[in-house]
Amino acid sequence: MHQLGGDARIVVAYLPYVIAVACVVMAYQFRRLRLLLAAVGVASLYWLIQEHLQVSVTANADASRLFLVASLGVPLLCLYLLLVPERGMFNVHGLLIAVFFLGVLGLCFALADSLVASEAGLESFSAWPWEGYVLSRAASKLIALVAIIGICLLLLRNTEMESVLLGVLASSFLSLALLHLDDISIVMGIAGGLCLMWGLLRSSYSMAYRDELTGLLSRRALNERLNSLGRRYSIAMLDVDHFKRFNDKHGHDVGDEVLKLVASRVRQVGNGGTAYRYGGEEFCIVFPRRSSEDCAAALDEVRERIASYKMSIRDNRKRPVRARDGARRRGATKIRSDEVSVTISAGVAARGDEYQDPESVIVAADSKLYRAKKSGRNRVVY
Ligand code: GH3
Ligand code: MG
Ligand code: MG
Repeated sequence: MHQLGGDARIVVAYLPYVIAVACVVMAYQFRRLRLLLAAVGVASLYWLIQEHLQVSVTANADASRLFLVASLGVPLLCLYLLLVPERGMFNVHGLLIAVFFLGVLGLCFALADSLVASEAGLESFSAWPWEGYVLSRAASKLIALVAIIGICLLLLRNTEMESVLLGVLASSFLSLALLHLDDISIVMGIAGGLCLMWGLLRSSYSMAYRDELTGLLSRRALNERLNSLGRRYSIAMLDVDHFKRFNDKHGHDVGDEVLKLVASRVRQVGNGGTAYRYGGEEFCIVFPRRSSEDCAAALDEVRERIASYKMSIRDNRKRPVRARDGARRRGATKIRSDEVSVTISAGVAARGDEYQDPESVIVAADSKLYRAKKSGRNRVVY
């Protein structure tokens, strides 16, 4: 950075803002409120450091107060964003999430003022006596605690949000802790923005290629896969048996839950198969370099596991919100048992002399699925 001339440095110093604005625009388009708020947070921290903390934090009372606010705001706002659910943007939830975000920020100001007023509080928030490390003992512990919570949530949920917020937390931590280093805030502001950008790209990939309900790869991903298959492969089509009846009896919400559980079993299929949600209650599995006999064994295992799996369902006896839903779900409101099970049927076909391209293999698998249905369901035909 030292080698950069004046003009180049000005351009680089604006980069964190440019990246943050790009993230805000993308987050807005993808309706990812938490990522949008995180981008605003990263840009605000960078602005604060650039505009107010370029003086000695210990010698200047105003700077010291703002530094304290930042050292509380970084962990508390990250924790807040880790814990609130993503509920879209233009609704009451979205509004409340944004208002509370500002509320947490306000709380940090109030907390900082009360710490400044109390001797003991200020003591624990004075700089850690390490050479080159200006963050306080208490703030460092707070950040470490939020990082541990973030890691636990990452292991538990494994969505891009946790990874992004951990990255943002780390970059913000470094720009505060090593504040005295020249241009650390520029480097870390860019790093934080890139973490957000990565999260947005990952979430746009998921939106395009993953099915939201089941988490399986989507029809679009399947279409791309079909274009890149080799000379030997098999394709299976799976369909849940009498699922319309199941929905009518237990309600659409329970149907969705069961579909998720079925999908999680389908995903575990062996023999190198990759599962896709084809649409509705239908799944497609692609087995590269496998004969239909090989696949039938793996599919039969899946079929067996689904048939013997007793799924516990939530008791849906609570009153439906809309009267029309109520009429549709009346059957569901009466269920007493909370264990249900479903079965699937499957048909599998391999590429061969008869079927040369993926589309005709799928049609063949579909007609075998139809035969499986006709001959009593809960079976695999190959
Ligand atoms: P079959 O054994 O012949 O396949 O009978 P079926 O009732 O499963 O067949 P059909 O294809 O007529 O009905 C599929 C039903 O699946 C219709 C719809 O109610 C239900 N379904 C499709 N997608 C979803 C979904 O995303 N969630 C829920 N809950 N139900 C779905
Ligand atoms: Mg169907
Ligand atoms: Mg069906």
